[in-house]
This record gives sequence, structure tokens and C-alpha cells, in this order.
Amino acid sequence: MARDDVPVLIVGGSLVGLSTAVFLGRFGVPSLVLERHRGTAIHPRAALVNQRAIETYRVAGLQAEIEEAAAKEFVQNGAIVSVESLGGKELDWYFRFINEGVEHISPVPRIFITQIGLEPVLLRAAEGLGARIEYAQEAVSVEQDDDGVTAVVRSRDGGEERTIRAQYLVAADGAHSPIRERLEIPNLGHGSFSDSITIYFRADVSRLMGDRNLSVIYVFGPHIQGFFRFSLDLQAGFLVVNSTIDDAGTKSVRVGEDMSEPTCIAYVREALGDPDLAVEIENVQRWSASAEYAERLADGRIFLAGDSAHVMPPTGGFGGNCGIQDGYDLAWKLAYVLGGRAGDALLSTYDAERSPVGAFTTEQAYTRYVLRLDPSLGKDDLQPIVDEAAVELGYRYRSSAITGLADDDAWEDPRAPTGRPGFRAPHVDLGGDRSTLDLFGSDFVVVAGDERWRDTAGADVHVVARDVADAYGIGADGASLVRPDGFVAWRGDDPGDLADALRAALCR
Ligand SMILES: Cc1cc2nc3c(=O)[nH]c(=O)nc-3n(C[C@H](O)[C@H](O)[C@H](O)COP(=O)(O)OP(=O)(O)OC[C@H]3O[C@@H](n4cnc5c(N)ncnc54)[C@H](O)[C@@H]3O)c2cc1C
Repeated sequence: MARDDVPVLIVGGSLVGLSTAVFLGRFGVPSLVLERHRGTAIHPRAALVNQRAIETYRVAGLQAEIEEAAAKEFVQNGAIVSVESLGGKELDWYFRFINEGVEHISPVPRIFITQIGLEPVLLRAAEGLGARIEYAQEAVSVEQDDDGVTAVVRSRDGGEERTIRAQYLVAADGAHSPIRERLEIPNLGHGSFSDSITIYFRADVSRLMGDRNLSVIYVFGPHIQGFFRFSLDLQAGFLVVNSTIDDAGTKSVRVGEDMSEPTCIAYVREALGDPDLAVEIENVQRWSASAEYAERLADGRIFLAGDSAHVMPPTGGFGGNCGIQDGYDLAWKLAYVLGGRAGDALLSTYDAERSPVGAFTTEQAYTRYVLRLDPSLGKDDLQPIVDEAAVELGYRYRSSAITGLADDDAWEDPRAPTGRPGFRAPHVDLGGDRSTLDLFGSDFVVVAGDERWRDTAGADVHVVARDVADAYGIGADGASLVRPDGFVAWRGDDPGDLADALRAALCR
């Protein structure tokens, strides 16, 4: 059997696998990505890419390319609303503009781009940074020992199986993750609550849309509940149906049991509010709406990322974004450990930091699902709703690599960031489209209030202006230690304490 050796093997080459390959590539770590499908996404799925995800792509130099690709798909900065039908009564406006009120908290906006538009950008970038992406390849077994991971791989086009030996494996293999199942890592959370469908259709909706710019449209019709998104030319779109209501008023979440064309046409026409509109069904996908997260994200040399680690309903648009952040947290850690710059224990902070964030984000998506789409699921076990921006940018990391976690706050409002250890380092506008966030991304950085910190070994030092120092909570003479992923690892007043903080941050 042929054998191939790579530092990092990524199983699953969709949104999260490709993002992780980009982030690893930035650190000079070549990865091999195996994907069972024959190419990048053919269904739009995720479209709301949040500010934190765009920040990570900005670090990788991809912001402009993503904005350009996004403009081909959507008029940006649209609204999120609910309606009785597209042509009928408007019920609620969740967002007038998706970037309203968050413009100043990041150098980047929330962007609407589907996985069809985004994944080719990520693929090109990953390959340019040294990753190898192999399509129509399936990892059929994965075993690990003290020194590495061995995967047996089969081509969908036949031929002999081959073996790949890697030092680490990232399981970005989706909600039904065969690798998570093989590792017998249980899922926690709420399980499945709707056998939903997504109907991809063609129809001229321009008259019904009028001059509104609606990015996501929740529909509460007499017989269906779900949501729409439309293409830029308003000649196509998809309708997700999460539940149906019969003439007697009985609700059902077993939508997937009838995916026949006449039924789907009837759903689309009702949701559009025009019983006679010409509708052509292109494709119907059945999927389970669930809110679950893995009990742990690591097992030895194998790490779960993306939907394999947490799967959540689309309400909030959090799922893919959360997975991208898994990859961002993991990539620099793998690079530092592989390069001998950090102790192996740094890798165990991946689970410590990302598990609670995955659970928190999943619960937030579930709360929105229950409140917006299906109150009958019950409100007793709901987490109170937390503002979108806090879910996206305000979560906190807790692990042995972060020093000075003096309080219990699990999240903060990124509109008023504090710069406390464990939080994302604040964005301060430096003028000319430059942000403090542009200082981070490769090495550890000391953001310092004065010159006393200049001689720090093992980190880049930036002595900053007073407004930045204030935003970072370091005053005129303190400093913050910021990790390559832009999170604050420590802050303090005494340069003598910095070496210990850096050692802790590297798990040395
Ligand atoms: C209708 C809808 C709308 C959504 N909207 C949003 C949104 O606006 N914003 C957002 O952030 N998220 C959204 N999501 C969620 C988002 O689509 C997912 O969270 C995201 O696609 C997860 O990416 P992933 O790479 O982790 O997993 P997946 O996209 O499921 O990819 C896993 C990949 O692994 C491959 N694979 C599995 N096993 C193997 C194997 N053994 N060998 C080789 N390959 C393998 C599969 O072929 C697959 O391509 C939405 C989802 C839906 C359904």
C-alpha cells in the first residue's frame, strides 16, 4: 500500500477544512485535505459570514477577494425580517441592516457570501500557501498511536487504497462526523428537533421583493414556517421549511417525509404569497435541524472542528462561523507545537478554549430557533438570548495558557471591549484602513504603554498611543500580551512578569 507523510491531515474539505488549511498555511505548515465530494460547495448553505470570521480572513489577506466574490452574489448589508409571505404582511425586523450598530467594533463588516462563492477563494488561498486538496477521496479508517495518526484512504474512482501518516489530524468531517463516532465522543445538547428541507427553486420574485434589500426572510405562513434567501438577480432562491401546519392547525416538524415536487411548489408559492407564480424546483435537500456539541474536541492527536464539533440551527448564522474560529484557534497551536516553539500541552488548550464557545454558540442558535420559529419546543431550558455581536466577537477563552483570568465573565459586549485576558484584543482604528488587529496574526505581540517593554524576548513589541493603551486597559505604562490569534494572553504593569506569562502562554 502506498504511503504519504504529512504534518497535518484534514479530513473534510468544506468551509472549515479549507479555512483551517489556509490558517495552517500562513504559518508555513503544509496540510493535506481529503474531501469525499468532487469539488467545492454546490449548495449555498452558509451566507452570513460574521465580523470575527472576516477578521481571520483579513489576516490571511483575503478580505478584498471575498468582498469582490460576495458582491457578485448579494447586495450587501441587507435586512433580516419576518413576513407572512414575501408579497404579504411584514411582521418583524430583526435587523434593518446587518451591519447596523457594529461598524465601529471591527475593521471589517459582516458579509453575505454563500459557500459556493467563498469556498473557491479559500481553495485557491490554501493551495497558494502549500496545502494539497484532494477531491473524491474518502478517509475510510483512522488510527492513532503515540507518534502520529494513520488514515486509510480510498478514491471514489476506484484503485488501490493508500495510507497517509500524519502527526496530527483535524476532523472537519461534518455533522455526522464518522471520526467523532469512531472515537466514541458523545454529543450533548438538544438533539434533533426538525426533519427540515431546503428547496432550491427558480422563480421571478422581483415584483414581490420590490425595492427592499432583504438578506434573510423568515416566513410564518398559514401552512409553513421557515426562511428564504434569494439570488442577486431575484430569479432564484431557496426556501428552508422547518415545520408545516395542516388545515386543522396541527403542526408537524416531519417535513422531510414529503419532498414531492407538487408539495414543494405549493410551499414556495405560499411563502412567496403568489399562488400562480411560475416556480421550477431545482433540488430538494433533507436535513435535520439540531443543536448539539461534542463532549470534548480532542482525543490524543485528533481534533474535531466545525460541524463535527457542534451543529446548530441556522438561526443566527453562527454555525459555519464558529467552525472557522475552531480552525483559527487550532492552526497556530499546531504550528507552534510542530515548530518546537511551544510545549505539547498547548494543544490541550484547544478543547479547553473552544468547547465552551461551541456550547455557548449552539445554545444561542437554539434559543433563537425556539423564540423565532418554534416556541412549542419549550422555554424552560433556554439560555437567555445574548446579542449577536457578543456571540460573534465577545466570547472568552479560559485555559492554562491564559494568565490573569480574575473574574468569571464568559462573554462581553464587543462594543465596549475591556482588553481583559481571554478576550479578543480590541480593535482601535489607526487610520487609513489600519486597525490594531493588523498587528496580530503571526507572532506574540506586546502592546505596550511605554518604552520599558522594548526588550521583551520572544515577542514583537509595539509601543502604542494613549487611546490604544486605554482601549487595552493598560494605562500609560502597562502592557498586554496578545497571541497570534489576536486573543489577550496576559496584561500587567511589571515587565518582570512578562517572561512567565509568555512561558505560560506557550505551555513551556
Ligand atoms: C440552510 C443553511 C443555512 C446556513 N446558514 C449559515 C450562515 O448563514 N452562517 C453560518 O455560519 N452557518 C450557516 N449554516 C451552517 C454551515 O453551513 C455549516 O456550519 C458549515 O457548512 C459547516 O462546515 P464544515 O466544514 O464543518 O462541515 P461540512 O460543510 O458538513 O463539511 C464536511 C465535509 O467533510 C466531508 N467528509 C466527511 N467525511 C469524510 C471522509 N471520511 N473523507 C473525506 N471527506 C469527508 C464531507 O463530504 C463534507 O464536504 C447554514 C446551514 C444550512 C443548512
